[in-house]
Amino acid sequence: MKENVLARYHVIPLPVQLAPFDGVFTLTQSTRIFVWPEARGVGEYLQELLPFSLVSNHIHNDTIPAGGILLTNTGASTLLGSEGYHLSVSPAAVVVRANQPAGLFYGVQTLRQLIRADSGTIPAVEIVDRPRFPWRGIMLDVGRHLFPLKFIKRLFDVMALHKLNIFHWHLTEDQGWRIEIKKYPKLTKIGSRRTASPIPSDHEKLDEKPYQGYYAQDHIKEIVAYAASRFITVIPEIEMPGHSVAALASYPDLGCTGGPYKVRNYWGIEKDVFCAGSEQVFSFLKDVLDEVLSLFPSKFIHIGGDECPKSLWEQCPKCQDTILRNNLKDEHELQSYFIRRIEAYLNARGRRMIGWDEILEGGLAPNATVMSWRGMEGGIQAAHEGHDVVMTPTNHCYFDYYQSADVSTEPPAIGGYLPLETVYAFEPVPPECTAGEAQHILGAQGNLWTEYIPTPKQAGYMLFPRATALAEVVWSAVEKRNYPDFEQRLQAFLPLLKKMGMNYRGN
Ligand SMILES: [Zn+2]
Repeated sequence: MKENVLARYHVIPLPVQLAPFDGVFTLTQSTRIFVWPEARGVGEYLQELLPFSLVSNHIHNDTIPAGGILLTNTGASTLLGSEGYHLSVSPAAVVVRANQPAGLFYGVQTLRQLIRADSGTIPAVEIVDRPRFPWRGIMLDVGRHLFPLKFIKRLFDVMALHKLNIFHWHLTEDQGWRIEIKKYPKLTKIGSRRTASPIPSDHEKLDEKPYQGYYAQDHIKEIVAYAASRFITVIPEIEMPGHSVAALASYPDLGCTGGPYKVRNYWGIEKDVFCAGSEQVFSFLKDVLDEVLSLFPSKFIHIGGDECPKSLWEQCPKCQDTILRNNLKDEHELQSYFIRRIEAYLNARGRRMIGWDEILEGGLAPNATVMSWRGMEGGIQAAHEGHDVVMTPTNHCYFDYYQSADVSTEPPAIGGYLPLETVYAFEPVPPECTAGEAQHILGAQGNLWTEYIPTPKQAGYMLFPRATALAEVVWSAVEKRNYPDFEQRLQAFLPLLKKMGMNYRGN
């Protein structure tokens, strides 16, 4: 009996507290929505989600609620924080309370999962909920393959349903520069085009089909604004000093040898990287970052920093001279010097720098945040040194890995094996961390590298439901997580993805 009752409340991610009650609230065409004026957009959003359309003048300010749905401000509840909410459903009314519009938005995400579309009813319940972590992210690599704006917006709609709030946009790569920079038009004229790509079944062979494309600044503004309407922050990534041959192909003076360079056709790591001893490189990157900062209001700016081969720096007179003049020990310290200069530039403009865990090598920049991908160790070290951390270890967060041990049944992928249950079992705070260090773990993120993911359909297949499991990891209380229970709730959740036009594995 209890199980049947609770089956009516299959919410993902699992709320912190959920108390079921008897009875239902029934939506009708005359149900009115009352909204705290500051959150009117959330009221309009809810109206669009309801199973039938209400007349728009049914949205009112929240002064005199008389039945209906009320989205209101709590004042300042320390319990709810900036993203938490209190949802109360009774036969008489639905009330969502929050400190901030973001909390109301997440209350609405829970509410929409409780609506029984067939009957237009919502079971009575009291929910108090707030996220465990502030950083609940998804990364999309558009360097290897581009994705249409329409897909990215749909992804935001689906992320919102999951209460995911960070979209990390990997915009530059060896295989393609994808962001328009007005001061350097060749970055997109030359850097966004490769002459061929590896074929999925054999990455040593090329298809000989040109591949090209980029996001114009107007499109980027559109994406950033749409994300904001879904309470998602877009964090741009401009890769440096490695993964940069598309930029070198456009402006060969930025490399150690002067080129010529080609946008890379194969996957993998290119040995040609930005020259770390060239003042021209720093001027170029500062110009690029100026345009990036004008497009992206995010506090964090991602500068890559991963997988940077040092062999050309070892032979470059300018790089070696910079090592000597700055008393650096080796090329790892040269990379650290490079990253520190970039960090100082970003900090002076009120932004924070984040990079992959290789930025630890040669010494971490003073205020850097570390994205730990080669396991948890980089994150542990960074937290120990008092730096903030986002956990994205390959073994739990790389959604380009296979989802089945039997790869013959799966589309070609980059390798690895990351089944749904392993994502669900992820714990972003490692036992090595003290309570103080744990405060530095901002959250976690699922990464979608797209070497083997050319289409939105394939992206959906690789992302979901693994991102659904991750959403519960970063939102819900760790002691309440239970995989069989999650699997059961997932059965009710997945049809929502289908309805939203997002592909997933098992569809
Ligand atoms: Zn050099």
